[in-house]
Amino acid sequence: MSNLFRSLPSMDALLTALAHPEQAGPGTPAASEQTARPYQADLAALPRPLLRDLVNAFLDQCRGAIRAGTITDAAALSTQALLPALAAHVLRAARPHFRRVLNATGVVIHTNLGRSLLAEEATAAVAEACANYSNLEFDLATGERGSRYSHVEELLCKVTGAEAGLVVNNNAAAVLLVLDTLCKGGEVVVSRGQLVEIGGSFRIPEVMEKSGAVLREVGATNRTHLRDYENAINERTVALLKVHTSNYRITGFHKEVGLAELVALGRARNLPVIEDLGSGSFLDFTPWGLHGEPTVREVVADGADVVSFSGDKVLGGPQAGLIVGRREIIARIKRNPLNRALRIDKMTLAALEATLRLYLDPELARRKVPTLRMMTAPADELARRARKLANRLRTALGDAATIGLAPGVSRVGGGSFPERDLPTTLVSVAPAGCSATALKERLLDTDPPLVGRLEDDTFRLDPRTLDDTEFPPAAAALAQALGLPGAQDAARPGKRAPRARRG
Ligand SMILES: *Cc1c(COP(=O)(O)O)cnc(C)c1O
Repeated sequence: MSNLFRSLPSMDALLTALAHPEQAGPGTPAASEQTARPYQADLAALPRPLLRDLVNAFLDQCRGAIRAGTITDAAALSTQALLPALAAHVLRAARPHFRRVLNATGVVIHTNLGRSLLAEEATAAVAEACANYSNLEFDLATGERGSRYSHVEELLCKVTGAEAGLVVNNNAAAVLLVLDTLCKGGEVVVSRGQLVEIGGSFRIPEVMEKSGAVLREVGATNRTHLRDYENAINERTVALLKVHTSNYRITGFHKEVGLAELVALGRARNLPVIEDLGSGSFLDFTPWGLHGEPTVREVVADGADVVSFSGDKVLGGPQAGLIVGRREIIARIKRNPLNRALRIDKMTLAALEATLRLYLDPELARRKVPTLRMMTAPADELARRARKLANRLRTALGDAATIGLAPGVSRVGGGSFPERDLPTTLVSVAPAGCSATALKERLLDTDPPLVGRLEDDTFRLDPRTLDDTEFPPAAAALAQALGLPGAQDAARPGKRAPRARRG
């Protein structure tokens, strides 16, 4: 056994072999077809200290295998013999922690998977903004200091019809900033049916407390009347707040006070009406079967004094909190020192301006903003794409799984249009050698990971959230998870292909 330990190659020999696999010796996989693999370039880009640590860890594993008696032959310990396993180990361990996944869940705005994907115009603007100096806070007309908000305010007003607007880090920040500016120390009247908690511990009562405003809840969980608001108003009242019940719906014996009525009451009592719209959309999705949500423009036209919403929900832009409303109120919000702590960065601004620009032509936005394109994908197109994906999976997986098609539903997600089903066609995978649950787990460890759903004891993929360019890596990930030979390499993505345009 001690001889075997001595047969282990040195660190330097392994580092050299990783850098020059073609010299590792004749007849090894590394010297033949694998020399052309993309991994060499990946390895060359790794920081040396990290590479040494990973090689060390690999050598430790080899020593463990010798001690455990799983390696008994010195030939298995030659540099040539170890190289493929070493390269695989290094590449796997060196993967970035934050990385791409394939979303086959059919949930378009999946908060855990990064919410909205940016339009190509927006990703290009981000690349330009972060690789170059810019006029972020520089007024090119005067050569003096400018405002970072100037880049999007006009667009925001044009698209929403509001007098003024500003943008902060996310909608949670927007709500906090609005309450802190307008309501600190006073009472804010809110319906009991709207005291929402959304994921990630954002709760209206708690945000209210942080802002220093006092929550005055009115009505019952299922029903709130205008007189409930009227009766709650007193000399300490500073605002009326309406909150979008993003991720739930109260059905049955239910009543909410509409915005127009609330605005009339606010005007009569000289109180601003604030609406936290949650998602906030610029398009009317009624033609696509998604009804019942007013657009931001409608909410502004109904007279809300301040409206806030997310940039990366139905809007399909970067993470941001957009605030629009009456000029004097927005001016006060801009002056709040808290605004500085919640401000957005230049990459977000670049992505947001590019996204808002697309909305100047709603049909252009619908075709170019991935979130909108996925939300409005026609059922027949999804069925056609499901068949295409199924065929590819049949070819890639052979006898390892039974592939089928099943009608199903997708979701908008992100607390937008809760409970609304979007009809789709799902591709089902019933593995031959393991349970669907085991397959789902293994797919979290493929490269890239593939996230789908379990339904009727099969693993299901929804083509709505999977781009055509992602079909090959999805097939390769399934092959890899099912242990098909050669799958390990096939699943390694090359350079990321841009998401093809559809629609
Ligand atoms: C999503 C949401 C928020 C938080 O928005 P983020 O952009 O995630 O910070 C706040 N209020 C409502 C009603 C929401 O739906």
